[in-house]
Amino acid sequence: MKPSRRSRRYSVLWSLALVVLAGSCRRSEDPPKPNLVLVSIDTLRPDHLTAYGYERPTSPVISRLADEGIVFEQAFSQSPKTATSHMSLLTGVYPPAHRVANWGERRVRRLSDDIPTLATLLARLGYRTEAHTDGGNVSARLGFGQGFERYVEHRGAGTVFDGARQALDQFAEEDGAGTRAPFFLFVHTFEVHDPYLPPAEYAAEFVDPSYSGDIIGSREELERLVGSGNYWASHEEYWNRVDREDPADLQHLRDLYDAGILYTDVQLGTLMDHLRSLDLDAETIVVVLSDHGEEFLEHGGFLHNSLFQEILHVPLIFRFPEGLALPSGLRVQTIVRLVDVLPTLLEVMGLPAPEHLQGHSLMPLIVEGEAPTRPVFSQWLAGGRIVALRDGDWKYIRVKRQEQLFDLSEDPGESVDRLSVRPEVLARLQAEVNEIIGESFAFAEAQTPTRPPRLDEETREQLEALGYLDGDS
Ligand SMILES: [Zn+2]
Repeated sequence: MKPSRRSRRYSVLWSLALVVLAGSCRRSEDPPKPNLVLVSIDTLRPDHLTAYGYERPTSPVISRLADEGIVFEQAFSQSPKTATSHMSLLTGVYPPAHRVANWGERRVRRLSDDIPTLATLLARLGYRTEAHTDGGNVSARLGFGQGFERYVEHRGAGTVFDGARQALDQFAEEDGAGTRAPFFLFVHTFEVHDPYLPPAEYAAEFVDPSYSGDIIGSREELERLVGSGNYWASHEEYWNRVDREDPADLQHLRDLYDAGILYTDVQLGTLMDHLRSLDLDAETIVVVLSDHGEEFLEHGGFLHNSLFQEILHVPLIFRFPEGLALPSGLRVQTIVRLVDVLPTLLEVMGLPAPEHLQGHSLMPLIVEGEAPTRPVFSQWLAGGRIVALRDGDWKYIRVKRQEQLFDLSEDPGESVDRLSVRPEVLARLQAEVNEIIGESFAFAEAQTPTRPPRLDEETREQLEALGYLDGDS
């Protein structure tokens, strides 16, 4: 990636900003590096967030971050599947380049040690690195632990955020002892993921008390029905009780999903409060995003098993530290991708971007408000042949041999296939897909393969709880 004239200009701006931060914090020859807290809320649709225009107050903490930061309104995921999407986020390359799929999908691969992750790159720069995640498809055994000094796998947002707050305590303590180095804290939770079972006091915020359908509303109720040991049975039981023909059931699912968002937002709030109470927030970049969305019958299904917009559209919010001359309250309409997050952060940290990255820094958009719109490539690695490409208003989807083409300017709901009437657009998008896959394949073949990870009992249980091992989620 060669620096353009514009990028040199904002690099100068950025260096000045770092000098300002350095002057305000400490005397040092090198400008200090900002800390980074990256929070991934799995399965979070942007249109269910108040900051993205949702009418319900699901997410006051995220709204505050959005007001203080930069909201990308058109951010898209590189995969509908957790492991694949997160790996593109954390490596800056497309799914066919890193080849990491969910447990239970095709051949399980661990990330090649040759491919640096965000944690690897920041650790090389002297960052302390720690992760608190919900494990499963972001397990260290798939390669997500690469570059982290400590990679902890929890179950549920409560303990994830407890662990994250304790990590901040530890970082602050080390700072006080004079051994300060910047830190990277990665936080991930499945709390919003199905089955939607928010704590009762949060469910009460959105659920219609007169709901009389069969959907299970609490974890305790589900455990009473199927016991606590058989997770796959729990998953089946939950979805078997959903009447997809009944509008009240659809609304009830949305209500429970929203309550899960509110609960997670409150947990995120405890982390943001803690950051502030430790005086770390003025030196810390906060990024909040999701790995994919969720379907509520837009295309006849639930969960996240397609490459339509309701699955690929994700929230993406950056809040930069105070004292840096970067915008706040900015809303960006340009289409961006999760694969762009890593190069953006590297540029902020002053690290040159490795040549192999397929994402591009968003700093030109953030600093100058303009950058070329790039195509969005997404892939579900199961079977290897489920791909989508959005280029401007056109969206191409290929599932095995079946192709579809949509004009999002007239048909944002992707319901009218334009394949037969726009053969020239089809040919162009097919060629773009082939080029991306070819380039990714060449990159992947050049990496040293790693031995596939073993699926231990604990991971198996977690995955069964999430329905992953059935292969449909
Ligand atoms: Zn996910």
